[in-house]
Amino acid sequence: MNQKTLKKILKSYEKKRDLAIKNADFKKEKIYKEIPKLKQINEEIVSLGLKMSKEAILNPDKSKEIALKVKDEITKLKLQEDELLATYHLDKSFLEPEFECFKCNDKGFLQDGKKCSCLIQEMISEAYAMSNLGEVFLKENFTNFNINLFSKDRFMDYDISPRENMMNILLESENFIKDFRQKNGDNLIFFGGTGLGKTFMCNCIAKELLDKNFLVLYQTSFRIMEVIQKLRFNKSKEASLQDSYDYLFECDLLIIDDLGTELTSSFTTSELFNIINTRIIEKKKTIISTNLDPKEIADSYTERIFSRIFSHFKAFEFFGEDLRWQQ
Ligand SMILES: [Zn+2]
Repeated sequence: MNQKTLKKILKSYEKKRDLAIKNADFKKEKIYKEIPKLKQINEEIVSLGLKMSKEAILNPDKSKEIALKVKDEITKLKLQEDELLATYHLDKSFLEPEFECFKCNDKGFLQDGKKCSCLIQEMISEAYAMSNLGEVFLKENFTNFNINLFSKDRFMDYDISPRENMMNILLESENFIKDFRQKNGDNLIFFGGTGLGKTFMCNCIAKELLDKNFLVLYQTSFRIMEVIQKLRFNKSKEASLQDSYDYLFECDLLIIDDLGTELTSSFTTSELFNIINTRIIEKKKTIISTNLDPKEIADSYTERIFSRIFSHFKAFEFFGEDLRWQQ
């Protein structure tokens, strides 16, 4: 990741944090006006803390003793505070800032200095221009999924109706999410024409897993190959490109959208094989979405890729009338 981008992300974290703290202060002011006793307790806690630091500086040999005593008093005051809040049916968390990430409190780093998963996800999103996904997810998520859009009537010579087919895919997708933590080697490939809901389904799954704090990299195969090509043929060897490449292997879920739209060459084919194969070996999950049918996949790629995909991915065909989901 280049330093400028990281700086930019951390700047936005700072803003998020400041806003959460400001909101909490505002809420506090308001509640202190209504319950002055609460304010008094809080002030006592703050002054005890100050007193402790002062005394510890003056009597360094007794600092442990002082700290213990003060800690005791603060615990008592906190209990009083809890009781008081309870009588007003307020939860303790009411006075705390509401950070987006409970793991790092929107700092981006954990206490041990390691990057928080939320920060890594931001970096992945930035590297693969996924930052606009938030808006997409508002429209395309399981809550907005309307099974009635799919016809109940049989389509061509398929055994089931598009609706029954979609119910099945929906169920499998939900199971995929539910069991995501298990290293069960589950991978999915969605194939079929455009306007049949493949991208919609990928968005639903990506959103659910992002909400559960998994690292998701979701990008078209075209863009993924572009990144790899830049890395391989760019003499400058930017560190950020290497990071972008590593994310393909490290992310919890890789969604390769629109497989078959990249410019295929022996180079892209071997890179693609490497990505899919490494992820299978490391039991990292992958979803592929493509307009190509299995025969076209066999024709476009090597036998190795074809057999790797179809022996390690559950394949689901999307069929029916074009729904033009995007419009
Ligand atoms: Zn975090």
